[in-house]
Amino acid sequence: MITRMKRLAVTVFVAMIVTGCQSLFSSSLPPTSSPPPLLTVTPPVPATIPLPPGVEPTATPPPVPTPLPTPTESESLPEIVLDVELFYTERWMSISQSVQIENQTADIWNEIVFSVPVHYLSDVFYLDSVLVTQGIDRQEGFPTFEDGDTMLHVPLLRSLQPGGKAVINLQYRVVFPPIASTDWPPLASTGWTLNLVQAGEWYPALVPYVEGEGWHTWRYHPVGDPTIYPLTNISLNVRAEEGITVASGGPQGTVEDGLWRFRVERARGVAFLASDQYEVAEGEVNGIPIYSYYLPDHAEAGSAAVGIAAEAITLFEGLYGPYPYDSLTIAENGYFGGMEYSALVSITDYAYYTFYGLDASVLHVLTAHETGHQWWYGAVGNDQVNEPWLDESMAFYGELLYYERYHPEYVSWWWESRVTQYDPYGPVDATIYSYSDSASFIFSMYGQAALFMADLRKTMGDEAFFAFIKDYYQTYQWQTVTADDFFAVARRHTDQDLSPLLTGYFADPEH
Ligand SMILES: [Zn+2]
Repeated sequence: MITRMKRLAVTVFVAMIVTGCQSLFSSSLPPTSSPPPLLTVTPPVPATIPLPPGVEPTATPPPVPTPLPTPTESESLPEIVLDVELFYTERWMSISQSVQIENQTADIWNEIVFSVPVHYLSDVFYLDSVLVTQGIDRQEGFPTFEDGDTMLHVPLLRSLQPGGKAVINLQYRVVFPPIASTDWPPLASTGWTLNLVQAGEWYPALVPYVEGEGWHTWRYHPVGDPTIYPLTNISLNVRAEEGITVASGGPQGTVEDGLWRFRVERARGVAFLASDQYEVAEGEVNGIPIYSYYLPDHAEAGSAAVGIAAEAITLFEGLYGPYPYDSLTIAENGYFGGMEYSALVSITDYAYYTFYGLDASVLHVLTAHETGHQWWYGAVGNDQVNEPWLDESMAFYGELLYYERYHPEYVSWWWESRVTQYDPYGPVDATIYSYSDSASFIFSMYGQAALFMADLRKTMGDEAFFAFIKDYYQTYQWQTVTADDFFAVARRHTDQDLSPLLTGYFADPEH
């Protein structure tokens, strides 16, 4: 790591690590470009040193993930309403959340389980009350929710039979912690800076239910994206003080008396960002509105983000299939990451203040990456805790596809700055628990995933590879995939033996 840092310090004009969803970035300028003036940014040192050589990130094969079926009709999905009173200047918010859910399984439910990532932190999430309604019965309760727990178990008033419905009302407060521009996801996804507040992974989100097994829970670990989302329909209403702009996914600009309304159907997760300084650039591609929120000094980057996202959407619609939501919002955030949410992506402010109009930029890479997540994470879901490679390999490799299509002169730059310089190692199918910090997780797994995808493409040939990707998307849109699904579809498009690839890149080669 030290050696790498020294090399970066000598040869790299712009060097950075942008984690995200996790989208890590280190970009050296292409040899033909002039260095930007006076820009020397030292890459943040990961919180912990990557695993030493010889210590495999995954010593034992990862557990076999449980398939997580999800309904495909938005009409039958749980309805979530989040009414937020945002106290921007005081940096906290009060939330009233309702969850309408129907038991569409053959099992009998005795509880509803939510994931509350921000409760991992101290003094951030305060649960005030929980009201359960079943038919004409309703009762307020106070579920056990130990400090540091991120799984909130809400007991039902009585067993919920198949076809039965329940409504859970949650009242809680979130106090934004301060975050620094060098902070990484996932812990810093919710917080404030002097310029904005960002609310990511901030509300109790339903965990998936696996028929015959129960609610699918997991141990929070602050690496990667430690969440697993079923599909839900989400309405978000944020009441903010005058002069505050709120950015989220879904229709924009429906503001009445300081109330910002958003709605995303078939959402995985929703977030919002707010600022007293945001400006917005707008565009449209293939009938999809694009909104780009940026801070006042970053107009060039804010407007460029619209064009990059439009290019990415055009490319990915051709390669994968239709863009899955009605709009896309891009918002400048205040930490060292890019992050995907439903119909919303947030991009590190670093990408904005280091944007000089070059096509080889952090802004290009991250915007392409996070936009790609709308297909992979959004429409095609996966267990991001135990099989994070499924969405990240597609989003990360999508960066390369973007450069191949629009800026082929920077393809080798992409490989060097995104993969090669980190000497990635370890299995592609690592879990988030395989790593102690997001930096080493991203350095290793993403790079290995890109190398694997390149080898898979080479093995299958371009025609079969892209037919596979399109088929994979169309087959599993609005569902949750596993590695078995990925390889089953791949094998529909090739007679080549994929075993050597699996043995070479995966801890568990049995797919
Ligand atoms: Zn990502």
